[in-house]
Amino acid sequence: MMVDALGRTLDYLRLSLTDRCNLRCVYCMPEGGLVSKSHTAILRLEEKLRLCKILCELGIRRVKLTGGEPLLQKNLDYFLRELKKTPFLEQITLTSNGLLLGDFLTSLGPEAPSLIAAINISLNSTDAELYAKMARREALSQALAGAHLAKSLNIPVKLNCVPLRGYNEATLADLAQLAESQFEAVRFIELMPMGLAAHLEGLPMAEILELLEKRFGPLVEDNSKLGNGPAVYYKIAGFKGKIGFISAMSHGFCSSCNRLRLSSDGFLKACLASDQGLDLKSPLRSGASDQELKAAIEGLAASKPMAHAFVGSDNQSLENSPQPYRGPLGMYRIGG
Ligand code: SAM
Ligand code: SF4
Repeated sequence: MMVDALGRTLDYLRLSLTDRCNLRCVYCMPEGGLVSKSHTAILRLEEKLRLCKILCELGIRRVKLTGGEPLLQKNLDYFLRELKKTPFLEQITLTSNGLLLGDFLTSLGPEAPSLIAAINISLNSTDAELYAKMARREALSQALAGAHLAKSLNIPVKLNCVPLRGYNEATLADLAQLAESQFEAVRFIELMPMGLAAHLEGLPMAEILELLEKRFGPLVEDNSKLGNGPAVYYKIAGFKGKIGFISAMSHGFCSSCNRLRLSSDGFLKACLASDQGLDLKSPLRSGASDQELKAAIEGLAASKPMAHAFVGSDNQSLENSPQPYRGPLGMYRIGG
């Protein structure tokens, strides 16, 4: 078991399979895309599997596949089936923009729900034009088709939306409406001011709550847990699904953070907002033993930062923060 200096148990890994993407969300990816990394810069599938095995021996129990867009990973079906065999690993989930999801799930066939326990799909607006304005691609119907196909296979689907001032605020209630009968949850993620997002303005949770209450009446906090993340959930009368908020800025959750993050080039991080981490690719390729890699990972886990650097500490709101962090990181590199 990996427990850090603050007593937090680290049992959840976000594994970024690639930093490439087929969308260019304004808060995440440069419009012109990325300079492609050479093949050798990216971990091979066998290397990713070895690191996952080691991490699970150390205490990881759940892995979220992310990116960039994880469905761009070649031979993902092979990877998933191998990953599934990893001792101690209890759950694999996926976060995707949904565009390639329909084809991918169809290719997995009836095994799909046993391989992927749940899927989060990024969907920022129900309006095709606003969706395209944010994603810089016209792809709403493709993303929705992927979400519906996953649902038809009984894979729980949550929709994730980043509310952005000047972009999608007028359609947030329409998006929330999809939790009425179609999806397990619609969640609103507060913009984190990193990379391209540093120049954009997100909507704080309080403002979204107010906006939704105007349309649907009172939202009632719901304490039941849904998934592995830090979302806070609310119920709307008559809705089967829930409304979630992931509010790293206005309602920090660092004190209960259970995550490690591994980038596609083998850099392990204990905090999303920190530039500190551990290069695992070099030792992996120069013959390090499992024991040596484990010792290095345990060292990183033990020194997990107390709180993210966007604001000083848990529950310190953006408004009260003396100097919000404006780092150079891109979320496509670390997987959100
Ligand atoms: N491409 C996949 C997707 O969009 O779900 C997986 C990777 S994406 C980086 C993971 C999540 O991070 C998405 O829900 C995305 O909207 C979110 N995200 C990206 N940049 C963000 C930012 N600056 N603040 C908050 N969330 C962000
Ligand atoms: Fe791609 Fe996801 Fe980033 Fe959008 S948020 S550009 S879908 S990685």
